Amino acid sequence: MIKSAAWITSSKKWDSAAYSYEKSFCTAHNKKVKSATLEISAMGAYLPFLNGKRVGEYLLMPGWTSYRTRVQYQSYDVTELLAEKENHIRIGLGNGWAKSRVGFTPDSRNYYSASTALIASLTITYCDGSREEINTDESWQVYNTEVSFSEIYDGETVDKTYERSLLTNAVFADIRSRLVKQIGEYICEQERLAPISIITTPRGERVIDFGQNMTGYVELKIKAPRGSRILIDHAEVLDKDGNFYTDNYRSAKSRLIYVTSGEDDVFKPSYTFFGFRYIRLTEYPFSEVDLNGFSAIVLHSDIKRTGRYSTGNKLINQLYHNIIWGQKSNYLDVPTDCPQRDERLGWTGDTQVFCRTAAINYDVRKFFKKWLGDVAIEQKQLGGAVGSIIPTPQDIGRISAAWGDCATIVPWEIYLAYGSKTLLKKHFPIMKRWVDYLHSIGPAEYLWLGGNHYGDWLGMDAGEDSYTGATSKDLIASAFFAYSTELLIKAGEIIGKDMSEYKTLHSEIVRAFREYFMENGMPKERVASTHETENAAFCRCNTQTALVLILKFGLATEEEMPRLAALLSKLIKENDGLMSTGFVGTPYLLHVLSENGYVKQAYDLLLEERVPSWLYSVQHGATTMWEHWNGIKEDGSFWSHNMNSFNHYAYGAVFDWMFGVSAGIKPTERGAGYKEITLMPKPDKRLGYSDAEIASVRGKIRSHWHYDGESVVYEFEIPRGTVAYLELPSGRREVLYGGKYRFEE
Ligand code: BGC
Repeated sequence: MIKSAAWITSSKKWDSAAYSYEKSFCTAHNKKVKSATLEISAMGAYLPFLNGKRVGEYLLMPGWTSYRTRVQYQSYDVTELLAEKENHIRIGLGNGWAKSRVGFTPDSRNYYSASTALIASLTITYCDGSREEINTDESWQVYNTEVSFSEIYDGETVDKTYERSLLTNAVFADIRSRLVKQIGEYICEQERLAPISIITTPRGERVIDFGQNMTGYVELKIKAPRGSRILIDHAEVLDKDGNFYTDNYRSAKSRLIYVTSGEDDVFKPSYTFFGFRYIRLTEYPFSEVDLNGFSAIVLHSDIKRTGRYSTGNKLINQLYHNIIWGQKSNYLDVPTDCPQRDERLGWTGDTQVFCRTAAINYDVRKFFKKWLGDVAIEQKQLGGAVGSIIPTPQDIGRISAAWGDCATIVPWEIYLAYGSKTLLKKHFPIMKRWVDYLHSIGPAEYLWLGGNHYGDWLGMDAGEDSYTGATSKDLIASAFFAYSTELLIKAGEIIGKDMSEYKTLHSEIVRAFREYFMENGMPKERVASTHETENAAFCRCNTQTALVLILKFGLATEEEMPRLAALLSKLIKENDGLMSTGFVGTPYLLHVLSENGYVKQAYDLLLEERVPSWLYSVQHGATTMWEHWNGIKEDGSFWSHNMNSFNHYAYGAVFDWMFGVSAGIKPTERGAGYKEITLMPKPDKRLGYSDAEIASVRGKIRSHWHYDGESVVYEFEIPRGTVAYLELPSGRREVLYGGKYRFEE
């Protein structure tokens, strides 16, 4: 039992090398082993071996949680690995997330723990029923390893010429975090990609292209004279001259150094990962490069794929591919913003924006069960507020609308996707604490005025180099206050709570919102800013994003909606047919258009290829989603050097429109978990056909349409136990039960 073991560390303090904690032992004399279980956790990342054989296949364990409060442990059945008498356990321990620099301020090093620490327990059960435990304690010995450096952002050095030596005995470590059994998904190697080419850049550097931006690392098989160095740098894109480009990694060195033994070596890192498509052989011992020796190994949490989608439009298919790879790349134990630069953090805004899409693509129940547990922990520490990065690896105190609102949006989306009332019950307190927090902060009771928000992050309507759009932050914050309260009410009613108090709160918020931000049923032009640092350019209420929020979050009356929608449509037209929305408005934009009768305009935006648009990056060779619509500009230059990720999934949230509206499959609120669905496909000739399916918790659901001349052929598949409310564009309505259907009109 791991709880009877002690946390250990080393008496010597090293910085970034990995060390190995070891123990030799004998199994009991004359007794036959029935089973053996090894449980391990760490402050750091561990890699276990028993009698020289790797235990399990998981990586970067124990995963990343709010370590100061809780840390997961993993259990391994090691019966088969145990030898009859003499045995040897060796557990490598690197810095991992717990001790590496994670976060973008200098104090983000050692945030969780001053030194790495390990706890492990091997329980041997003999056939006679007796048990024995080998637990970490001061008898364990600490050795050096071939990993002489490892950091999350900076990479790893693996030196096969190292000389193994005993460094010291372990000492007890004072770790007070609660040990919890693995909750999330395990991180595993998932795929291997072979290089597609080797390039000599204009600068004369040798660069290997794996053809796909991804998260993972490079495995290298090589035989070279002992002590030869291979130095590998990582990049997502080449610059406009075709040179290797790493400025957008900021301070993350992302460097692998391999030192050869002189024999046949197989190298890969053990405690870190990279976001990359290209590698540069900055040092390499031969003039010829044997590409067969290189493979890129893709890492992500072991989430199972549930969604499939294709159309007759190549660009849209590539966009879908990029969305899937955005998720693969950023669902590495924690939902991150990006996998390459010195962030790779659980930004809550990005998470809430993408979670509906995520739950179509993959089964993310366990993944979010763990993450929402950390949301609950961090939220308690902030007295109900929800920060912008979870787990919070440094004291970043920004409480921002649309980021903190992950507290209501993520539990609600997980409920819609999987229909578990048990989970909703578990998450309800997070939702409630957030709404109560919003209600408790001044200066206005029913509005969220002031504060420190990210606003309509990366919105395009405040000028090219601005990080936030022009929409009033007060408007965004107050609109999300209403939305979060609405979701809380729905959740509460589903689990049988009396929500009358919150219903009153909700109507007060809506009333206050309309009074403050609207006039005669239309948004005011602007409001005075409560944000000191802001000028009037950023306080607008009649932007695309403002209209989207007003329409989406029920802040307008039924009668007002057509006028508001018409204004939104007009603003887009006046903007040369382009959207100007950022992180906050974009995810809802197409929904709001199609819900209000502007389906064609929604498709126009989806199929747009100029900046800003989803297909611009596709047309410019993207294999994952970009952080900025024009991360690479038409002239080949970059949007910026320090905020320019090419693997940021947030805008991939558009897939919930492609799947939910274009293909038309959506769970209803009443029949969450696809027990009851609406099937309302909205075909458009420009896609040719659409074929979408999901392996839902109820079974496979498929919606297909294609054009046959001027008519459209529909095919549907509904699992037994699901009721589908079909509505075709002609207005034809049917109720469908389990089975396969075909319609033409
Ligand atoms: C991240 C974003 C995040 C934002 C907060 C950035 O540095 O990469 O995706 O949500 O900060 O506005």
